[in-house]
Amino acid sequence: MNEFEALWIEADESGRKPLPPRWNKVTVDQLSEGDVTVKVTHSTINYKDGLALAGAPGIVRKFPMVPGIDVVGEVLTSDSDRFKPGDQVILNGYGVGEVHTGAYAKVARLKSECLLHRPSELSPARAAAIGTAGYTAMLCVMALERYGITPEQGPVAVSGASGGVGSVAISILSKLGFETIAFTGRLEETDFLKSLGASEVLDRAQLSEKGKPFGKERWAAAVDVAGSHTLANLIAQTNYGGAVAACGLAQGMDLSGSVMPFILRSVALLGVDSVMAPMALREEAYARLVQDLDLAKLDSLSEVIKLADVEERAAKLLKGQVRGRTIVEVA
Ligand code: NDP
Repeated sequence: MNEFEALWIEADESGRKPLPPRWNKVTVDQLSEGDVTVKVTHSTINYKDGLALAGAPGIVRKFPMVPGIDVVGEVLTSDSDRFKPGDQVILNGYGVGEVHTGAYAKVARLKSECLLHRPSELSPARAAAIGTAGYTAMLCVMALERYGITPEQGPVAVSGASGGVGSVAISILSKLGFETIAFTGRLEETDFLKSLGASEVLDRAQLSEKGKPFGKERWAAAVDVAGSHTLANLIAQTNYGGAVAACGLAQGMDLSGSVMPFILRSVALLGVDSVMAPMALREEAYARLVQDLDLAKLDSLSEVIKLADVEERAAKLLKGQVRGRTIVEVA
């Protein structure tokens, strides 16, 4: 196969620290091993992609690396019985873009056990708009549902509301009939968040500082992308018998609070990981996204860019200047 363009991250002389990414002409042989090659048509930018492109420690752990944790594309060649050339596929996570070469290249070589057939209801661009952030939002909602949370119990608070996970979570929850309280640092996005279905939009500063260990009950459940004091405050203000789905660390990876909400209010803390989620759960999440995510809302929270602009956009995302989701056109 001919050479193609890839964003390429090499290590410094220590062999462990990433050098800044550069565009490189590569061949398939330079990609990680896999039994399926895919023509990448679309990808996206998640928080983790932003960290990888910024050279944050601990994200890219194998070199050289093609970043990009979400692949949407068409199978070119396959040694797997599950896929044949022309099949439309999706890959989210599984260490791609971290320890296995990823999406910011015209071609990806991937392991068939990590690939999903793209649901026909989702165009390639919409599948990219969902990406890891959107599928994680669905996993958070499913975790709350599994715990028994229903719209009748009260509102669901969502942190990082203007970001990727938060904006998709609000869209899904509102279609399912939940009232949602959107916490954001960008109150200028109030109209946008209400258009996605937020019932109320509040300043995230309310949750940013160390708060009371045991606060007034305000919501039946929460989806948290921030960690740190935000997560502790969300837990402390959850109603009796409620639950908080925690998936992120946008404020910080620390968590200090009180056990009081757990032992006096039976509040549950539900951890959500998308990267190594089993295939059956991924298939369930995509089936649910097809059913429970309003595609017009998904379009309204997504913006399209070219692959060449991925670094500039990722830097903005880390500064909290990107609203919703980004679709990266690769092909
Ligand atoms: P985005 O950058 O799209 O959104 C993050 C949002 O968090 C920002 O837009 C901002 O929203 C909010 N935020 C930023 N800084 C702070 C802060 N200091 N305190 C409170 N809120 C803050 O990222 P994603 O939506 O892609 O990812 C969100 C988080 O979820 C990340 O930490 C990411 O690593 C994690 N994640 C985890 C996954 C998993 O498998 N567990 C999968 C996907 C994501 P606003 O401006 O509205 O306040």
